[in-house]
Amino acid sequence: MTKIGVLALQGAFIEHIAVLAQLEVDTSEIRLPQELDGIDGLIIPGGESTTITKLMISYELAGRIAELGRDGLPVMGTCAGMIMLAGSVDGSNHLPTGIMDIAVKRNAFGRQVDSFEIDLDIPAIGTEPYHAVFIRAPKIDRAGPDVDIMARLPDGSIVAAKQGNLIALAFHPELTEDYRLHRYFLNIVKQR
Ligand code: GLN
Repeated sequence: MTKIGVLALQGAFIEHIAVLAQLEVDTSEIRLPQELDGIDGLIIPGGESTTITKLMISYELAGRIAELGRDGLPVMGTCAGMIMLAGSVDGSNHLPTGIMDIAVKRNAFGRQVDSFEIDLDIPAIGTEPYHAVFIRAPKIDRAGPDVDIMARLPDGSIVAAKQGNLIALAFHPELTEDYRLHRYFLNIVKQR
């Protein structure tokens, strides 16, 4: 049976686990490197990226997650989780995994609209608009040639992308009842 690990250091991990339970998928909370053994996919939730970065490094998770991601383990990072996957964040390259060829800007939407909801067009999951919740969200400023852009805001900002087995979402798919992005991720896991 498929088992999805959810990084449970800080942030919205309980909500991701609840969605996966609705989808009848087995989950395990990941806090230590050895807990990564035997999972078929990993979700890195949103939260506070500076805190998650520190904990990922001090629990020696960052290097192991980078290795597994490079070897093809499906990994989906949402909001702060996207920051954990990026090759560059606010111009810095000192990052926990750096496995995705994207340059990310933190808190990209300023104070006035630091949280908002909007319907996105995400062709990869179907024609119905997807209602996305952004909370002090990052955005993708630059995506490398191997990265498929999955969604943009009306102003052109990239807010969802895929690079092979890796998915980065600037918003919080675990906070809505539309599970299409979790299903999309689970399909990548099953294909592997
Ligand atoms: N602004 C947060 C950060 O940069 C991310 C917010 C979130 O994950 N909802 O860490």
